[in-house]
Amino acid sequence: MLNQRLVDQQNLSQQDVDALNDLHSMRENLFDNLKTLNVNEIIARADEINNLIEEIEFLMQDYWKFGRDAKRHTWWYRNDICTCPKMDNDDALGANLRYHNASCPLHGDL
Ligand SMILES: [Zn+2]
Repeated sequence: MLNQRLVDQQNLSQQDVDALNDLHSMRENLFDNLKTLNVNEIIARADEINNLIEEIEFLMQDYWKFGRDAKRHTWWYRNDICTCPKMDNDDALGANLRYHNASCPLHGDL
């Protein structure tokens, strides 16, 4: 569900809202699919997976009319696969800083 107050504030059209709901469905499907992969498969495809998540998030910013800003992305760590520190990355939102866990299958040194 989208934040209705934000929808009103950003003056989004029904088309924008539909597109955002579709993008959230895509993201949920992607995250569900990740759960079917084992950790070695995720590590082998980490670049591809990270690029997909980032592209979905950029498109969400387009439809929200926020302008593209990777410093405000959250889905790269708000998923069940990523083991990077959530609270540190929440605190770093808007800063050009990402906290990585070296053993994260998506963002680590594996
Ligand atoms: Zn991670």
